[in-house]
Amino acid sequence: MKTTGYAAFSTTTPLAPFVFERRALRPNDVAMEILFCGVCHSDLHTAHNDWGWTTYPIVPGHEIVGRVTEVGPDVTRYKVGDAVAVGCMVDSCMECDQCHNGEEQLCREGNTGTYCGLDRITHEPTQGGYSKHLVVREEFVLRVPDGLDLSRAAPLLCAGITTYSPLRTWNVGPGSRVGVIGLGGLGHMAVKLAVGLGADVTVLSRTTNKEADALALGADRLLVSSDDGAMSQAASGFDLIIDTVPVKHDLNPYMPLLDVDGTLVLVGQVGPLAEPSTVPLILGRRRIAGSPIGGIRETQEMLDLCAKKNILPDCEMIRMDQINEAFERMEHADVRYRFVIDMASLPA
Ligand code: NAP
Ligand code: ZN
Repeated sequence: MKTTGYAAFSTTTPLAPFVFERRALRPNDVAMEILFCGVCHSDLHTAHNDWGWTTYPIVPGHEIVGRVTEVGPDVTRYKVGDAVAVGCMVDSCMECDQCHNGEEQLCREGNTGTYCGLDRITHEPTQGGYSKHLVVREEFVLRVPDGLDLSRAAPLLCAGITTYSPLRTWNVGPGSRVGVIGLGGLGHMAVKLAVGLGADVTVLSRTTNKEADALALGADRLLVSSDDGAMSQAASGFDLIIDTVPVKHDLNPYMPLLDVDGTLVLVGQVGPLAEPSTVPLILGRRRIAGSPIGGIRETQEMLDLCAKKNILPDCEMIRMDQINEAFERMEHADVRYRFVIDMASLPA
């Protein structure tokens, strides 16, 4: 099937229209018309080849919401017309211990990315959701629960699950003291989800600019990470801190904020950090960890929770042809708090 999308063709050129093929349906495939796609900072990193593994042309987009248009004969869970979603992965080996545990994101063979991956059968590059149509095997399709606003659900598929997963891994609940570094797409979902789980939530931002927003999102307070006095006063006050900063940065100011056995979990920067000192780690029995997205079962659990508790991202709707401007604004942390592309704006 021919479809249209927007692709990056090199590190330096703006995204531009692109016509490409989606595969013919396999027996276990679901085809969907994409209605909305969120704009993640990972899309920007990939378009710019910040991680060194981009192959061009690349169609980004892994926060995808749409409607089923066709199903293969072996598909049992979805039918034409269903509201469905796809996140950051579209396949995995389905046989290893991690896949059996429902942690396909940690597949021993590596999961297949929604974009910038290789189809496990044809070895063709996968292309993401800045496009009209998508074909994905049934096991990697999520159901959008009734009542969840389709136009706002898309960012849950990456920003939502990437912050929900560590909240669950570290058993956040009532009484947990959670910090969130960086109030962007991931950060604002971390706040909403941690609040939804009953935690006491602090936003750590570089300035006071987002203080009113942080409180409106449900956070209990905003701590300015450049204010040394306020940071000292907050020492040993957190059980879990989720760090969403997208670039190389210094962890040393944040580690003393953790209580004994507290964890700083990195979900943002993929790559080197400024030199972290082990002193606060060793002396305070503190931990630094990392976490990638989440499994399919956990993603469905998060979507269902968001529907039940009416937890939705704050979205700014854009047209497909505004994507380059959106990337530029995202680079300057000028997004409150997720761009979502209305795919109706993309000519067929
Ligand atoms: P975003 O919307 O651009 O938000 C990032 C936030 O980090 C900004 O709003 C800003 O918050 C803060 N920030 C930006 N530049 C900074 C700097 N130089 N120093 C300190 N803080 C800075 O990005 P996002 O979509 O949330 O993505 C964040 C990162 O997570 C990206 O690197 C992305 O690739 C990664 N990611 C990882 C996973 C995973 O599986 N682990 C999944 C999705 C995304 P303040 O203005 O409040 O300081
Ligand atoms: Zn993402």
